[in-house]
Amino acid sequence: AHPSDDAGGAVDTHCPYCALQCGMRLVPDPRAAGGVAVAERAAFPVNRGALCGKGRAAPETLARGLRLTEPLVRDPGSGALVPTDWETALARVAEGLAGTRRTHGADAVGVFGGGGLTNEKAYALGKFARLVLGTSQIDYNGRFCMSSAAAAGNLAFGLDRGLPFPLADIPRTGCVILVGSNPADTMPPALRYLTELRANGGTLIVVDPRRTRTAEQADLHLAPRPGTDLALALGLLHLVVAEGRVDEEFVAARTSGWEEARAGAMAHWPELVERVTGVPVPRLREAARMFCAPREAMVLTARGPEQQAKGTDTVGAWINLCLATGRAGRPFSGYGCLTGQGNGQGGREHGQKADQLPGYRMLTDPAAREHVAGVWGVEPSTLPGPGRSAYELLDALGRDTPDGVRALLLLGSNPVVSAPRAAHVEERLRALDFLAVCDVVLSESARLADVVLPVAQWAEETGTMTNLEGRVLLRRRALDPPPGCRTDLEVLHGLAARLGWEKGFPTDPAEVFDELRRASAGGKADYSGITYRRIAEEDGVFWPCPETRTETPDDAPHPGTPRLFLERFATPDGRARFAPVLHRAAAEEPDAEYPLLLTTGRVLAQYQSGAQTRRVARLNEAAPGPFVQLHPRLAARLGVADGERLAVVSRRGRAVAPARISPDIRPDTVFMPFHWPGEGRANTLTNPALDPTSRMPEFKVCAVRVERAVNG
Ligand code: SF4
Repeated sequence: AHPSDDAGGAVDTHCPYCALQCGMRLVPDPRAAGGVAVAERAAFPVNRGALCGKGRAAPETLARGLRLTEPLVRDPGSGALVPTDWETALARVAEGLAGTRRTHGADAVGVFGGGGLTNEKAYALGKFARLVLGTSQIDYNGRFCMSSAAAAGNLAFGLDRGLPFPLADIPRTGCVILVGSNPADTMPPALRYLTELRANGGTLIVVDPRRTRTAEQADLHLAPRPGTDLALALGLLHLVVAEGRVDEEFVAARTSGWEEARAGAMAHWPELVERVTGVPVPRLREAARMFCAPREAMVLTARGPEQQAKGTDTVGAWINLCLATGRAGRPFSGYGCLTGQGNGQGGREHGQKADQLPGYRMLTDPAAREHVAGVWGVEPSTLPGPGRSAYELLDALGRDTPDGVRALLLLGSNPVVSAPRAAHVEERLRALDFLAVCDVVLSESARLADVVLPVAQWAEETGTMTNLEGRVLLRRRALDPPPGCRTDLEVLHGLAARLGWEKGFPTDPAEVFDELRRASAGGKADYSGITYRRIAEEDGVFWPCPETRTETPDDAPHPGTPRLFLERFATPDGRARFAPVLHRAAAEEPDAEYPLLLTTGRVLAQYQSGAQTRRVARLNEAAPGPFVQLHPRLAARLGVADGERLAVVSRRGRAVAPARISPDIRPDTVFMPFHWPGEGRANTLTNPALDPTSRMPEFKVCAVRVERAVNG
């Protein structure tokens, strides 16, 4: 039961898509394609009833006609995927994974998860990989999302939580620099926080190579060359120092490493930064003045600065700007990351990352291994060590080498569309000895599988999600999954049982959450004081929330932590650490053969690889296919007309899509959204050069040439 349940069967839950995790009410409606209609849930504080078009259309994804409703296995004779029963399908998967392990060892079996999986599923998947399969080879697509911000946050603050403050703090600050983020298209209900900021007299600076619909609302738009956000941040810090705006008291009391960071910034004088970024010096000065003028200010980053081969350093440079000006660890100030995927935050906390155990514990930490092994009832020595990062794992698939990964279990991800150098990744998936995919629809990746398991989705199952604020939320089951579908937890339970683990993989999400709480207890992301009931009653609970009582007379439970770092940072000495960073070039710079830059991103009506949203008619109508955005001057130079088919060519391949000529992009840059497969697949082009710390690929910048697609 839930406080909001009503006799008519309406259920309060959350959107299946992005990290805002907007609250919505689902009302039974036999006329609706999915059997439920969306109603407003005005009381939920994050979105106060507002939804974007994707959220409003979300029930359509529940329609039976769009779904997989029976398991599929590859027929050895015809090579086609054919329907089968669950017993046969699960037996095939268990044998595919176990057989590979027997022949080639545990690390020849890989697991690839997703940032959209509930906390319970992410937890169960990590446990399944490490206990049942005994493999170190597990990672997930969140590595492609915010891992650079996570790495930089850990380095600077000793803890990574997307926003260390609630969204509601944004209108109460004085200035926001929004770097490489376009909420007008990615999470429109979040725009109101920026609108309210400006209505309160605050200022908004948007950093983006494109004049997006978000940039249009800014007081100042800086459009740096893709891949140069690091230099831009260093240039701003240079001006902060030169103009005497460093908060010396804060720096002395609450930080370490300033001298080295300062030296790095002083090497980036404004004229040099203008040459590197293309942002004129007067605009830089204006931005520095706007940022320093109010007492409180924030820097918020998203995929723009993060999805670079120097993403960790780039985010570190923006954090440096906050620290030097005393804008961190104080109310209404600080650095935050706007996570992208629905459970981008929680998905990285509970053990589906290659290097981590639940509770943000490191696999290399003996105490962490002991704690988690204790919860799992095994010896710490039986837990494998860290594995490969997402792209490195995908790149190792199907390799006939001692360290090749020959069988893969894939959940909640569609790397054929969303991974960098996607044609290569597709080839690696095809080269596997065995591929099993759990999905709601027959995605481009599922089409390559030996076995496809049809699973339940958002409104058909209960589980927790952690939104971009670190607020743990409860997604609630509003209707039954179609007959023939099972939940991911049921799949893991069934596979574990077939592989000798009768116990330890419950199918009830509440039971899994209870174990997750114990596994996270004492860790950095401590959920031990969070219960489903509290989430429902309190509109979510912010972690860390240990299972301790306050010292108040009523012995109240821990209230959760909406704001982090106010007393001390989570580093051993309590001080935030400046990042010693210098600008460096992108992994691939333009040259005579590839003279332009490509940057990729999202459009309003589609979500990630589009596996769900491309199947929703009204979203597909709004955004039916890919395009190449280019500046009129570039179009004129190439002799290209609007709508004409263009081929964009990089060292990795060629993608074809119609031209969309617009003055809202730099003339040296073209943009493609990445939601589509086929000839217009943007990720055919992207560069898998990896950040040395976060292992994030360089999605946001690579060298390309553009030509008219004369050959169709
Ligand atoms: Fe869903 Fe995100 Fe749109 Fe909200 S902003 S309705 S969470 S897709």
